[in-house]
Parts: sequence; C-alpha cells; structure tokens
Amino acid sequence: MSLLKNKNILIVGVANKHSIAAGIAESMSKNGANVALTYQNDRLKGNVEKIGNEIGVESYIPCDVASDEEITNTFATLSTNWDGLDAVIHAVGFAPREELDGNFLDVTTREGFKIAHDISSYSFIALAKAAKDMMKGRNGSLLTLSYLGSVKTLPNYNVMGLAKASLEASVRYLAVSAGKEGHRVNGISAGPIKTLAASGVKNFRKMLSYNAERSPSGRNVTTREVGDAATFLTSDMASGINGEILYVDGGFNITAMGSIEEVEN
Ligand code: NAD
Repeated sequence: MSLLKNKNILIVGVANKHSIAAGIAESMSKNGANVALTYQNDRLKGNVEKIGNEIGVESYIPCDVASDEEITNTFATLSTNWDGLDAVIHAVGFAPREELDGNFLDVTTREGFKIAHDISSYSFIALAKAAKDMMKGRNGSLLTLSYLGSVKTLPNYNVMGLAKASLEASVRYLAVSAGKEGHRVNGISAGPIKTLAASGVKNFRKMLSYNAERSPSGRNVTTREVGDAATFLTSDMASGINGEILYVDGGFNITAMGSIEEVEN
C-alpha cells in the first residue's frame, strides 16, 4: 500500500525500537512516505539512526522540544532537504519520575506540573507554529499521541493525565486554527505499550496486564498497530477527519466492567 506516497513527514519522538514513534515511522515509510526523524539528544542519536536506516530515512535532526531555538533549527534544516512538509507527528511525553509515583495530591508539584505541560503539551503547539511556513498550501496533517489518563483517572499517571487533557484540548483548538490553512489536526489515544516513557509510571506492568485482561480484544496493542492508525489519519483517506481523538486501545476505553467470565468466576 502507498497511502502516503511522496508525502514529506517529520516524526518527533523516536527514542528506541520500542517507541510508538518507531512503529509510526515503519508504517509510514512502508506506505511510501519520505520520513525525517528527530532525536532528543546525542545519547539517543545512534538508536534513532539505526532504526531510521532500516527503513530508508535520510535525515536526522537534533530537537529538544524544550528549546524554541532547536525547534526553529529543525525546520530550517528540513527546508534545505525538502521544498515542503505534509505532516508532523508529535510522539513526545515527559514528566519527572517522582510525579508518577504515589497519591496525586501528595506528589504533584508546581515545577513537575510546568515541565509535564511544557514538554508533553505545549511542544505540539510549538511544532505546529514552526511548521507553518513549510506546510503552506499542502493540505497537511498534524498528529499527536495521547492516553486514556486524560479523561479517566489511573493510579500513578497523575500530572501526565492533566498534560494529556491539555494536549487533547490543543488538538481541537489547533484544528480550528490550522483548518483555515487547509490542514487537519488529530490525536491517537493509544493503549498501554511497554516503552521507555511508560516505564516511568510506577506499576506500569500491572497496567499492561489489567488492560490486556479487560479490553474487548483481550490483548494489548502493538506500536505497529498504532503506526498503521497514524498512517490512515495522516493520509488523504482521512480527509474528512479533523480535531478527533481516535482510540487505538483494543476497545479498553469503552468498557465499564470486564467480561461475563470475570463476573461469574
Ligand atoms: P518513548 O519513551 O519511546 O518516547 C517518548 C519520546 O519523547 C522519546 O523519544 C523522548 O526522546 C521524547 N522526549 C521526551 N522529552 C523530550 C524533549 N524535551 N525533547 C524532545 N523529545 C523528548 O515512549 P512512547 O510510549 O513511545 O511515547 C510516545 C508518546 O506516546 C508519548 O506522548 C506518550 O505519552 C504517548 N503514549 C504512550 C503510551 C504507552 O503506553 N507507551 C500510551 C499512550 C500514549
């Protein structure tokens, strides 16, 4: 399939082969996209290049989203390779570890709140701003990654839930702003997947098994499944979808109680 043939796509958020962004990069590249990857810092550069080289990525750009200068430089570098940009994928999230371990009221701090919202939510807006010139006239797509913790409580997810709620609201506001330019803005709310970021949430392994047992699909989703949904949402096949959050979680979010077997046993 070539749903993204000849589209130029920047993916922000690959750390290693387990990253959701790596599954997205693989799916998009298999669907004909020209993919550029960023890496957060030099420590991650080698990992990102290894993943990218396997799927034909040609450009790697340093980008710490806490820095406006690095964000600006990312698009300056991209514009030397490409004459335009069709999509930006934002798969970035961070909160200090102490915020993700314990009772919400006890562990949440002003500084932790600021960092979580800056890196996990504002950065999507910052990338959208910086991408504006390169995306002009391309009927492009902006896509981010969220989690159920934005709308329901979960143990230890804490301030990240607030940051994801802010991120999902920014999907809607950006959809209105960028809609005027002909672009679409959407989010994917992925089910839990074992990644570097996820391992920062205390007892994440329990979340994984809880989700697998109770989701209608009876299992957890893979990064490639999230990647394929991202490919669809970024493609012209999804031209009527704007400002949405699509759940890719095996249906976990629709249930209030587990299966009949669980109740009867
Ligand atoms: P991951 O650790 O593989 O990816 C997180 C990425 O964020 C890394 O590449 C990291 O380098 C990047 N990042 C963090 N701070 C940054 C900064 N200052 N500048 C630039 N990059 C920075 O983990 P992941 O689970 O693939 O996370 C990707 C996205 O998916 C996140 O938004 C996460 O919240 C979301 N998500 C994850 C899950 C899950 O269970 N893994 C579920 C739903 C949503």
